[in-house]
Parts: sequence; structure tokens; C-alpha cells
Amino acid sequence: MKELFHIHTYRCKHAKDEADELYIKRAVELGAEKITFTDHAPFPGNPFGNRMDMEELTEYVDTLSELRKRYQDIIDVGIGLEIEYLPSFKDYYKWLKESGKLDILILGQHMYELADGGYSFDLKSKENEEYGLAQAMIEGMNTGYFSVLAHPDRIFRRHKEWDENMTKLSLDIINVAMDRKIPLERNLSSMKRKRQYWPQFWELVPDAAEVVVGLDAHGVKELEMVLEY
Ligand SMILES: [Zn+2]
Ligand SMILES: [Zn+2]
Repeated sequence: MKELFHIHTYRCKHAKDEADELYIKRAVELGAEKITFTDHAPFPGNPFGNRMDMEELTEYVDTLSELRKRYQDIIDVGIGLEIEYLPSFKDYYKWLKESGKLDILILGQHMYELADGGYSFDLKSKENEEYGLAQAMIEGMNTGYFSVLAHPDRIFRRHKEWDENMTKLSLDIINVAMDRKIPLERNLSSMKRKRQYWPQFWELVPDAAEVVVGLDAHGVKELEMVLEY
């Protein structure tokens, strides 16, 4: 694999406490030509956990930009963010996109905004969360701000078995991604976890669709996932 895509950093608070440069050095050892960081994006006011704080965003971009320069003859360093689509923050995505400092925004829909302004993590029953997640992903793709759809099949993580509704929802997602020319991410970390990676989803993806492989690494050691792939 030439590009190690979808890499997190210690800033998200649930990754290993390892320096960004260690990821780059390991990527070089593994023979990669590019490493793309997409840490969990902050939101203004820091309303959510498990991500960098808003105050860290400048440092994140500056540190990686400096490393990109230092390693330019050895490996490419991509600088991006993984982020959920939440309609209340529409202006923020625009601001991130127009800042010109990020190479890529990837849509990783781990939760979604409810009609009353709350968020899906507050729902008592998350049994049907795939509908809200899919809806948010589709709306997000239609904004044009996002360049890759991260782990689309992970929305079914609460299901034990594949059913017809999942097929329908998957096709809705795949069709919008194809219309918008947004690559779907086959996520290597999902493959290691129960019910996050669904071969039934990928069987529905036509050959004409663009697919990227992402590691979703939260530690330097996890870069070695590429050796198994
Ligand atoms: Zn994470
Ligand atoms: Zn991720």
C-alpha cells in the first residue's frame, strides 16, 4: 500500500500518546510514499469528547506542516480531519474547507444531530441509529465539503445479522457517494472488530465506485495493519 490513510494522533484523547513524527518514521520503514493524518476534528466550543480541542487545531496543522517540510524528500504528509456532519455547524465546515490549510476532510459519522438539536448519543435506544447516521452521511456528502466517506458499513454495528433494510440503506449511501464521486473507505480497523465491517455492504458496491483503504490507526504499532492487508 503506497498511502497510509486515516491516521489519528494523541490529540483525540483515545489514541496512543506518541509523537506525530514516530508515525511518519514508521510509515517510511513500511515503504509508504504518503501518510495522511485525519485526526478527530474539534468543534467550536468543544461540546464533544474523544477529539482534539478547538484550541489545538492550529498546533496540529502547524506541527504536521513542519513535518511535511522536513520529510518532503522522503515521504508525502497529508493533513486532514475526520469529522461528523452536524447541520448546526454548516458554517464551520465551510470555514475549515476555505482555510486552505487542510488537504482533506473525511466524513466519519459516529453520531448525528437530532431534530430537536440534541445528539444521537443521548437517545435511550440506539437500536435504529443506522437510519439517522445514514441520513446525516447522505446530507453531508451532498454539501460537497467531504472528500471520502469513512467506514460507511460501521453504521450497522448494532446489528447481528444482515437484512433487507440494511441492503436498501447501503444502496442509498453508495448511490450518493457515486453521484458525488466520493470514495468509500474500506476500514482496516473495522475488520478487526465485531460487526463493524460488513462484506454484504461491499458486495453491493459496483466496480465503478471509488474505494479507498483506510487504517484508522490510533497508535504507531497499528500502521503494521498494512502488512496483513
Ligand atoms: Zn478514534
Ligand atoms: Zn478514524
